[in-house]
Amino acid sequence: MTTPHERSSISPQGTFPAFPAGTVLGYPRIGPRRELKKAVESFWAGRIDATELEATAATLRKNTRDRLVSLGLSATDAAIPGTFSFYDQVLDAAATVGAVPTRFAGLTDANGTLDLAGYFTVARGAGEDAPLEMTKWFDTNYHYLVPEIGPDTEFRFASDRIVREFAEGLADGVTTRPVLVGPVTFLLLSKAADDAPAGFQPLSRLADLLPVYAQVLTALAAAGATWVQLDEPALVTDNIDVPLADVLTAVTAAYRALATDLTRPTRPAILLGAPFGDLQEALVVVAATDVEALAIDLVKGSAPTGPVAGLETKTLVAGVVDGHNIWRADLSAKLEIVERLQVLGAGAVTVGTSTSLQHVPHTTADEPDLDDTLKSWLAFADEKVTEVVTLAQGLTEGREAIDAQLVAASAAVASRATAAGVVAADVRERTAALADGDFHRGPAAERRAAQAERLNLPLLPTTTIGSFPQTLEIRKARAAHAKGELSLEAYEDEMRAEIKRVVDLQEEIGIDVLVHGEAERNDMVQYFAELLDGFAVTQNGWVQSYGSRCTRPSILWGDVSRPAPMTVRWTEYTQSLSTKPVKGMLTGPVTIMAWSFVRDDIALGETANQIGLALRDEIGDLESAGIAIIQVDEPALRELLPLRKADQAAYLDWSVSSFTLSTAGVRPDTQIHTHLCYSEFGEVIGAIDALDADVTSIEAARSRMEILPDLNASGFSRGVGPGVYDIHSPRVPSQDEVTELLELAVKSVDPALLWVNPDCGLKTRGYAETTPSLKHLVEAARAVRAQL
Ligand code: GLN
Ligand code: ZN
Repeated sequence: MTTPHERSSISPQGTFPAFPAGTVLGYPRIGPRRELKKAVESFWAGRIDATELEATAATLRKNTRDRLVSLGLSATDAAIPGTFSFYDQVLDAAATVGAVPTRFAGLTDANGTLDLAGYFTVARGAGEDAPLEMTKWFDTNYHYLVPEIGPDTEFRFASDRIVREFAEGLADGVTTRPVLVGPVTFLLLSKAADDAPAGFQPLSRLADLLPVYAQVLTALAAAGATWVQLDEPALVTDNIDVPLADVLTAVTAAYRALATDLTRPTRPAILLGAPFGDLQEALVVVAATDVEALAIDLVKGSAPTGPVAGLETKTLVAGVVDGHNIWRADLSAKLEIVERLQVLGAGAVTVGTSTSLQHVPHTTADEPDLDDTLKSWLAFADEKVTEVVTLAQGLTEGREAIDAQLVAASAAVASRATAAGVVAADVRERTAALADGDFHRGPAAERRAAQAERLNLPLLPTTTIGSFPQTLEIRKARAAHAKGELSLEAYEDEMRAEIKRVVDLQEEIGIDVLVHGEAERNDMVQYFAELLDGFAVTQNGWVQSYGSRCTRPSILWGDVSRPAPMTVRWTEYTQSLSTKPVKGMLTGPVTIMAWSFVRDDIALGETANQIGLALRDEIGDLESAGIAIIQVDEPALRELLPLRKADQAAYLDWSVSSFTLSTAGVRPDTQIHTHLCYSEFGEVIGAIDALDADVTSIEAARSRMEILPDLNASGFSRGVGPGVYDIHSPRVPSQDEVTELLELAVKSVDPALLWVNPDCGLKTRGYAETTPSLKHLVEAARAVRAQL
């Protein structure tokens, strides 16, 4: 095996500079203290202009370059990725190639270019013009914007921002490696434009798109770029509706046009990035192209054990440092994986991250309150850069050169393995003793009869999903309490007063099943993470979720248990205020895991059962306190679905089981609800039934009840609350609109099973829209009830 330092060129396409010994596939762009978020939101609010926003962004990019150089990535050999984005990397690719939907054509100039304001409008919509749809980026919590491509979409080199950002770095003494979503992934992630004929596939436009990518590469080379990174994560999933053969044909065509037909000096060397899993069948196809380097994910994926034709002319970037989770790596084990890659026969092997680091926070150094031992087990983005640099040094100079770091990393891993709380014997005994019966309730029909008798609800009962508006006063009180300016007693008094207001409002509107409104919860996952053992929360561990939105995932580091009841006193208090049933409100195991950083040392299913048992105890306590209805939210059930179909059954098995484990301990006359947020379930729709909840609420207003026939077809015959009020918009639906949706629902669902509720929680709404909307919802339910 040659190391990068011993060679300068291996490409059949001419002489390219060697790929750096260590790199990361991307870096967080939101800023260590969310500087980009604040600047972008100020721009939206009109407090700063485009020039000022550009200046803030340039400063952030400079800080990132300086930081990465100081951490040991080389300034001159394209080791530093150019992954800045004002909003989203897929939107950036669309803007680069001019793929702007026709409804936004008025925002572009003669060349098809969007200015900054136009770019944000495409992302966020304006008036009647809906924004691009947003959806999950592979198996992460990041959401990208879905380009719309039709037969007439005109591709052109509309934005040279990527070239300008490269030139900015070069002028500052840093040769970055520009990063762009690759052409095959770009089209596979796009959806057919609304006016496209039925069955139109965006991928059919590949031949028209490639000349624009070629122009971008040529412009980058002219600006001095030596390497470019084209990300093709779509090659690691089979959860798409394009046949594999078509995808592989597209890969061959794309990289023939970009790598084979463009010879030096008309393009930089190409690194093809394949994060989030194994390339499987695509590996031989990618290896047969003329790209100069290939980055593979060796955290989610693994390498083949024999030579792969075509790799002998390529650099293989071994993605051994996990870009998607926050655990410190066992460097010695990682180095072994890299060394073992020799058998593949690659021209050179270098070290990288498995994915972009945009999915982890900036640095553990900014976490003064985190326990020191826990901190020693963690690596956020900056610490991961150091791991890459260390491994690269070990690879080029030999293990001896990094001996001290290997020893320190092994010691951290060993300390984690044996630390108190990581393995809690009582928790493990409980999960080991679980038997089939713990996961099942009695027959649904018997439960329905018992609940009907106990609850005595009208037909088409009305309820809400849980949260009521999180007003400025609530957030102020929480902030004051966090700062120590408001005592716990005073804070809790305010929360109780808020709960009383919410109960009174629901009584006044005439809602049948009440909620407490979730005023006391900062977040539906973090709230529970703070109350359960086995979790830690960060102070500055922000991760971009989409656009300017960031979340602070909790860190699930140990065995999970519930030291004390969590929600019982709040729910009991709420029930004391009304004779109507109050619905207890919990977040389910899968959602708690999906929105946290999870352990990599035990099976996900084991953690899910631990959380399931903690919730089971909580539900038991709620039941004993007289609460007759308990909702366990699982909006993330679909989110963790594996990218390969072959892995999905096993996932659904443990995820659904953890839900039934948490809920199956109740009496037949206690009613279990769940809320699933989205309505697109595809082939996993059967999982909704398998949850065995008595009532399931689901988003349905925008799609006008589209989910109901699919649910029926899947054999679902339980209580269902299809949303009749779209809470994602500030619009107040009229009573007639809600009535119409309910009439539609009654056509698909037995009225005895139908519930009336909004699409989702109301926490992001204001009372100005919430109150009239809920009144219309209750009136509509009464009107339709009267017709039955
Ligand atoms: N109970 C939560 C709420 O009402 C559910 C939120 C969600 O589904 N994301 O806010
Ligand atoms: Zn929801």
